[in-house]
Amino acid sequence: MQERLNEIRKEAASLIDEAEDEEALNAIRVKYLGRKGTLTQILKGVGKLPPEERPLVGKLANQYKKEIEQALKARKEALLQKTKGRRRGLVDLTLPGRALSQASPHPITQVMREIIDCFTRMGFSVATGPEIELDFFNFEALNIPPEHPARDMQDTFYISDDTLLRTHTSPIQIRTMKANEPPLRIIAPGKVYRCDSDVTHTPMFHQVEGLLVDENVSFAHLKGILTTFAQSIFHPDTKLRFRPSFFPFTEPSAEVDIQCVICRGSGCRVCSDTGWIEVLGCGLVHPQVFRNVGYDTERFTGFAFGLGVERITMLKYGINDLRLFFENDIRFLRQF
Ligand SMILES: [Zn+2]
Repeated sequence: MQERLNEIRKEAASLIDEAEDEEALNAIRVKYLGRKGTLTQILKGVGKLPPEERPLVGKLANQYKKEIEQALKARKEALLQKTKGRRRGLVDLTLPGRALSQASPHPITQVMREIIDCFTRMGFSVATGPEIELDFFNFEALNIPPEHPARDMQDTFYISDDTLLRTHTSPIQIRTMKANEPPLRIIAPGKVYRCDSDVTHTPMFHQVEGLLVDENVSFAHLKGILTTFAQSIFHPDTKLRFRPSFFPFTEPSAEVDIQCVICRGSGCRVCSDTGWIEVLGCGLVHPQVFRNVGYDTERFTGFAFGLGVERITMLKYGINDLRLFFENDIRFLRQF
């Protein structure tokens, strides 16, 4: 019987050591100390043993019962400390680290900054204006008469009869000229709004407008500035082509094409096999615009240009869908 007791003691001790939770400990308790537990059964049977064995077996069984109870208690305490430690943040140092993903400015913001940098290097300063604009600044002062199609309700978000969401950044030209005497050299970056939404148009997009006013300003200066700009943003050898066009606020006016950035002029899908891509509109400031702001049209001349930042960004990075800019898909944004 003594041997049997020793076996039970050893077995119980190793089981308790291996137990990993309270449930396992309870099972061990039942197995040895429960009403039908092995140790309990032995204690109950002490009276049936031969008289000379009774004292020793009784003593040992009671001693082992206490030992097992203490071991169970100690193991339970140890397991509790372990989970507490885990909760307190005592982490397993061998686990791989969690990488921090790095954020970066939106591609539109990046290109906008690059454009601003390029023009500030050429002596332009940045001017800003309100996005909710008066009809006067957005249209009338820019020589856009009331019957002009650009005023159509379908293109313009009107707020009231004489206030609207600006359809271009050109009203900043007027505001700046009304507040300052020439010479002037400004760029006006910002958001503009048009009632237009399809694959190639969004109701909000970004423009950068430029204006230079001084004595003896000619179309040659405009060409020089825009060539420097295109070669700084795209390839240093980028060629430009000026095509005659019409805008109410410039005369003469031109649309500017750059040599296709994809095929470098040999013709591809992006440039519809022409080798050229339209990027901006420009011209010499219309004398009527100068008269509207009170400038001396005999003494001063100037040029203005406007470009779409989304378009420049798409060409620069070879992005083929305008909507990608507005979806904020992290997989797209992470590439810049
Ligand atoms: Zn091409």
